[in-house]
Amino acid sequence: MARMTPPAIVILGAGALTTARRIQALYADSQVHGLQGRVEADVSYSELGAHLRELYARGTPIVALCAAGIVIRCVAPLLANKGAEPPVLAVAEDGSAVVPLLGGLAGVNVMARVIAAALAVSPAITTSGELRFGTCVLNPPEGYALADLGQGKRFVSDLLAGESTRIEGEAPWLDDAQLPRSASARLAIRVTPRAWSGRDDELVIHPRSVVAAVSGAGAGAGAGAGAEIEARVREALDAQGLAVLSLAALLASSEHMADQALAQAAASLNVPLRFAQTHPEDGERPSERPSNLLHAALRIPYETLHDDATSGVALAVAPLAIDPDTIGRARGRLTVIGLGPGSADLMAPAARAALNEATDILGYDTYVKMAGPLRADQRVHGTDNREEMQRARHAFELASMGRSVVMVSSGDPGVFAMAAAVLEALDAERNAQWHAIDLSIVPGVSAAMATAAQAGAPLGHDFCMLSLSDNLKPWTIIEKRLRHAAEADLVMAFYNPISRARPWQLDKALDIVREYRAATTKVVLGRDIGRPGGTLRTITLGDLRSSDVDMRTMVIVGSSTTRGFAKNAEGGEWIYTPRWYE
Ligand code: SAH
Repeated sequence: MARMTPPAIVILGAGALTTARRIQALYADSQVHGLQGRVEADVSYSELGAHLRELYARGTPIVALCAAGIVIRCVAPLLANKGAEPPVLAVAEDGSAVVPLLGGLAGVNVMARVIAAALAVSPAITTSGELRFGTCVLNPPEGYALADLGQGKRFVSDLLAGESTRIEGEAPWLDDAQLPRSASARLAIRVTPRAWSGRDDELVIHPRSVVAAVSGAGAGAGAGAGAEIEARVREALDAQGLAVLSLAALLASSEHMADQALAQAAASLNVPLRFAQTHPEDGERPSERPSNLLHAALRIPYETLHDDATSGVALAVAPLAIDPDTIGRARGRLTVIGLGPGSADLMAPAARAALNEATDILGYDTYVKMAGPLRADQRVHGTDNREEMQRARHAFELASMGRSVVMVSSGDPGVFAMAAAVLEALDAERNAQWHAIDLSIVPGVSAAMATAAQAGAPLGHDFCMLSLSDNLKPWTIIEKRLRHAAEADLVMAFYNPISRARPWQLDKALDIVREYRAATTKVVLGRDIGRPGGTLRTITLGDLRSSDVDMRTMVIVGSSTTRGFAKNAEGGEWIYTPRWYE
């Protein structure tokens, strides 16, 4: 059930290491994050604020061994738009104080109790309901949802005022709570899939125990098709007196895996969309009866409450909350992302989000390392394998099993990288399962952009990107393009400029360019830009030697108008290509 992400235990110096390791021992797969240069730990970070914000944004629980005020200041910019908030705790370096700060509905107080118990101190719990009852009745575990938070708060204040409560239904997580219970109490905590009646003497908690199967799909699609499916499901739930919050998943036939209306309906209902394959009886068309889908997808006993041929919705109600991962299967996903040149701050948030959601990550080992830190439950298929088509096919095979796959490239995935290989693999494949997966491509900051930005704006006018590698194209093509680009006075960004297997090509390329461009032409060399030890150099075409360049270098050759001027303070030079021609 609840798969808690292991917390990041963050320390600033060696003085906190002992306490950190004691906390680490409480959480399987947790890691200690230490400030680079100050303390050796499992993961190193270079700036506390940025690191805490990144962890917070990813929903990672944080145990920070430093002043509570520092932690609050660091994450403050992210607090305004309150989405799902991970637990955040401050712990004194010497283990003498444990302060839950954020994530009241994500179990921060439970963590505070566990950590404080291990350190033999009292946790600084400030939530009033918790002080008395030892648990937060407003925070049911995963698989359960509170019908109405406002009502919940009123209910807890009644309890605090001295009332007792009954418990109706199965609420095993309340077994150990020190709730004032009485079978004859006026107040009741009711665990039920039925909709809350509005009575204020009841705290209603819904187990996510209902599955809605829908037949057909958003036939004809169109903007309203998703809303139409959603309305049909809501009506069916309503007719049975069931709460929308009791819904564990929306179920449809595998044939409609790529249907957008279904995806929209599931998103509006805020439940996962799952798929099943029916095995039709003789003479019956597959998937026409939604109750057949339920039968194919659910391995648990359930009651069919609603099986309406006209609305095309069938509802199954299980006695307890259902883990949606066990219902049929998900639509597989493949996201091809660009990591940018290397540093985390140049990676698009959409790429970060895809990484967070991934079950499987594929790519060159170096890039997979750049994408980290990854969670222990994420499978890495790192490889030195240069066979890109094989890797692309592997990604599709995983995705068509229902997994969430991320393929990583450096820079932009569409620039001399994996996106084209992935599309080529799909284009050549007839298997409908491959075509049904949710494929998307997330752009990244390409090496030419990252290098150009550091130098100034050498790509400020028309330019081209060329790979000098003749692994996948004949050298004659490269020569021809170089000639045309040089003659057209385009600024040129050279990718893959040189390698051990291709030692002479760069000199040959420069000879061609020198036929058209002056020796004084500006050249920018960016090596490992955005990575540790990155360097930027500006020289001229006349002085450039192939020994100045290696396979980790981006070479930008200016046009006839590319120019430079001295930087005022830092030294060095700004390089730019004006937007106009004389
Ligand atoms: N998809 C990548 C390019 C892959 S081709 C992108 O969009 O950036 C690999 C080439 O890119 C290398 O040979 C080098 O020329 C260039 N390159 C990639 N990362 C770089 C970096 N951080 N600094 C400088 N050049 C880089």
